[in-house]
Amino acid sequence: MSNFYFCVERLKEAFYTLPSVTPKFAAKLASDFIKLPPESRKKLLDELREAEGSIRVCSVCGNYSSEDVCDICADKERDSSIVCVVEEVMDVSVVEDAGFNGTYHILGGRIDPLNKILPENLNIESLFKRLESGAVKEVILATNLNRKGIATARYIYNEIARRFGDIKISHPAHGLSEGSEIIYVNAHTLKEALEGRRSFE
Ligand SMILES: [Zn+2]
Repeated sequence: MSNFYFCVERLKEAFYTLPSVTPKFAAKLASDFIKLPPESRKKLLDELREAEGSIRVCSVCGNYSSEDVCDICADKERDSSIVCVVEEVMDVSVVEDAGFNGTYHILGGRIDPLNKILPENLNIESLFKRLESGAVKEVILATNLNRKGIATARYIYNEIARRFGDIKISHPAHGLSEGSEIIYVNAHTLKEALEGRRSFE
């Protein structure tokens, strides 16, 4: 086997580490990369290196950021007394499109004991830490409306109710159907769901 063959295989494996890339797509990406003119390959690598050097995680909410605190948490115009809890970073842009003007807390997934994802594996304890200051008056649980998302919301609800009895806990169930994943809900529906949010019980 030539060195080049191993190099291509490693390239495929590297692309395959991206969660949405299938083995077939990884092979296609490796092939595309090899076929690029040298200057385009270099530009792509420079961009990746640049991105790698500036990706940080917001110390408040867990969103990706180029600073220690992300733009949303740092924005004084936003209502920091309301925290919208979402499963993934991608959910933030969907809730933003729905016109939400509070702040976020990104869990980085959902509780899934069968796949060994427990509360301590998610960005949950930092939410409770955040609530200790008393500045947050309402937590909106905007996890997905499927089994794992609801179980995650239920866990957070129970913990907040137990530790901080006076914080309002709501969820945007109004108008959203069972099984809905936040990322696929259109902005108008989500806006109505957020405006008509109900107490989580
Ligand atoms: Zn943040």
